[in-house]
Amino acid sequence: MTANPTRLGAIREIEANEAPAAFFNGTGDSPEIFGENVFSLPVMAKRLPKSVYKSVAATIEKGEKLDPAIADVVAAAMKDWAMEKGATHYAHVFYPLTGLSAEKHDSFMEPVGDGTAIWEFQGKILVQGEPDASSFPNGGIRATFEARGYTGWDVQSPAYILESPNGSTLCIPTIFVSMTGEALDYKTPLLRSQNAMSDQATRVLALFGHKDIDNVVSYCGPEQEYFLVDTSFVNARPDLLNAGRTLFGAKPPKGQEFDDHYFGAIPERVQHFMFDTERALFKLGVPAKTRHNEVAPGQFEIAPVFEKANLAADHQQLIMSTFKSIAKRHGFEALFHEKPFAGVNGSGKHVNFSFGNGNQGNFLNPGDNPHDNAQFLVFCAAVIRAVHLYGGLLRVSIASAGNDHRLGANEAPPAIISIFLGEQLQDVFEQIAKGGATSSKQKGALSVGVDALPVLTQDAGDRNRTSPMAFTGNRFEFRAVGSAQTVAAPLTIINTIMAEALDYLATELEAAVAAGTEFNAAVQQVLAKVIEQHGAAVFNGNGYSSEWHEEAVQRGLKKLDTTVDSLPEYQTPEAKALFSKYGVFNEAELEARYEVALEQYLMAVNVEANLTEEIAQTIILPAAVRYQTELAGNIAALKAAGVEGDLEDLNAVSALVAELRAGIKGLQAAVAAQHDTEGIAEAAHVKDVVLPAMLAVRAAADSLEGVVADDLWTLPTYQEMLFIK
Ligand code: ADP
Ligand code: MG
Repeated sequence: MTANPTRLGAIREIEANEAPAAFFNGTGDSPEIFGENVFSLPVMAKRLPKSVYKSVAATIEKGEKLDPAIADVVAAAMKDWAMEKGATHYAHVFYPLTGLSAEKHDSFMEPVGDGTAIWEFQGKILVQGEPDASSFPNGGIRATFEARGYTGWDVQSPAYILESPNGSTLCIPTIFVSMTGEALDYKTPLLRSQNAMSDQATRVLALFGHKDIDNVVSYCGPEQEYFLVDTSFVNARPDLLNAGRTLFGAKPPKGQEFDDHYFGAIPERVQHFMFDTERALFKLGVPAKTRHNEVAPGQFEIAPVFEKANLAADHQQLIMSTFKSIAKRHGFEALFHEKPFAGVNGSGKHVNFSFGNGNQGNFLNPGDNPHDNAQFLVFCAAVIRAVHLYGGLLRVSIASAGNDHRLGANEAPPAIISIFLGEQLQDVFEQIAKGGATSSKQKGALSVGVDALPVLTQDAGDRNRTSPMAFTGNRFEFRAVGSAQTVAAPLTIINTIMAEALDYLATELEAAVAAGTEFNAAVQQVLAKVIEQHGAAVFNGNGYSSEWHEEAVQRGLKKLDTTVDSLPEYQTPEAKALFSKYGVFNEAELEARYEVALEQYLMAVNVEANLTEEIAQTIILPAAVRYQTELAGNIAALKAAGVEGDLEDLNAVSALVAELRAGIKGLQAAVAAQHDTEGIAEAAHVKDVVLPAMLAVRAAADSLEGVVADDLWTLPTYQEMLFIK
């Protein structure tokens, strides 16, 4: 155990830590707690007049705006329900382009002018809020004189009550738009993209003879990886505290190579934390079902059951904020950064997605008859086309300073967006491409509408963990999303590019049928055409290998290694045309996404650069210099006593101190030179000059960690942070 007082103090604190009493009151762990704090359809059915309930339910089904005529009735019922549950305030919750959640709290209490007050919550306040939005990033959309933004209830995402130690708040999930209706958030485009995808999917379904086609939605089940580190350690690490990742730290003697953490026993304190979060999430109607240890020490995962994409996106944000606040109560910090520890596996958020509706089910489920199979193949073909044509957009939707540390680091998918179909489905498409030439089904051709697909086993072994986009039996898994990111951004892209692909397929099929081609033959033709034109995106091999990176480029796939490489994808004529055609982003909105992503990138790296300099200068250098002095004193004392000292240690430390000083100077120069650049050039400077300068400082510091006396080293070590729980 360390002899350094700061670190020792932190460890003693952790040892004294007791699990807090369960905070969330309620009925305990019974199924009744699920959704207890949600103003759900069953609650509305009980509390609203029948006609009002019917209207709200229909609105939810179709995803439309609430009829203003009934808003007052809904609001009054909602307020009564919330107050019975102890709420005194309400908040419109929205997701600004920072990627965080924002809420503006107001009291139900309304002064009436004679010195008294009443409880009130009007329909117009439920439906629309007007937060002062000037402090949220807008990418230049809102002129500075017009600081207002509007929030509007997303009726499809139910209101809920958030309990906190200081009281309870009725939360209303909303969209956030400018005065002129431009999206300032992640949810508005997600809802628009959902509609665009639904319209095109409906055309395809109609071609397959479906009547009564329900609104089509995308479903999402996001798997969230995260680290838990003790608050006592975090408080002694300005980098973790302010940047969410360590900017210094030598590799621990015992790393993750033992693989003993994955699926191992969950430490008891962590279990307490998990029970508490799950109880809280269940009450909020978040189906947080599976949990386990992840690959790295101190790393865990939670995977809620999949839901409609917009609800899943809201719930995902709730999971992150719930984790953050409950972790604190348990003496932990929940880290969502993509790479909190160098040399240790980072965290991702796998976005499992599929498409479907209430009537016709999941369209990525292989059917058990030829007709359903043909439809399944058409939807798969749409994914192939979408990924091939718009891989760059998928890539930029998950670009961030944090995710740059993870993608392509041989632990996460490469920055090249390809698609993995699995052996069976790949074989099916290959046979279709051969177009009925041979008789043997094994080696030859498959005819749509005649042959059934071989039963596609949903075998967990049939996985390709190196692929960014993998078919996993009844869904695709987009594995390149960063752990801190909102799932709304990639889901918006997925819906939009699927809308385009389904539009293309429907148009082709309609034209062929109109020209007299038999429907199954038309399907066969169009599937063959898709695999011929877009098969380049299909890759079943090892995505980590350098051969693939070369081959991918030869195949014409984009290799966008970093955020800086990816950002221009928002500005291509193809992107502008795509998003405006399907009504997801107009040009100003798309440009705003670019501006905000750029700004976020620069801010993130600049904070880290400042922290690197500060920690190196004020924490690491002083420790090193003290040790250097101690060694020099030792040599001098020995000399005075007439003994020849050994200069080896002193020389080694002195060399590293010189290296650290030079590194700090280099970093200062790199940051100063940033002021000469602007826009994407500034981001390129940050990536090519500032980040390497930070690494140079780190290299010297991490070497010093290995030689400076332990009692002088105040920063908690990797070993301590990762293994002490
Ligand atoms: P694994 O670790 O094997 O990928 P998990 O059980 O951890 O599997 O997570 C799988 C995720 O995929 C869960 O969130 C699950 O609800 C989700 N999922 C399952 N089926 C679908 C589907 N049809 N559409 C979208 N997500 C799905
Ligand atoms: Mg997974």
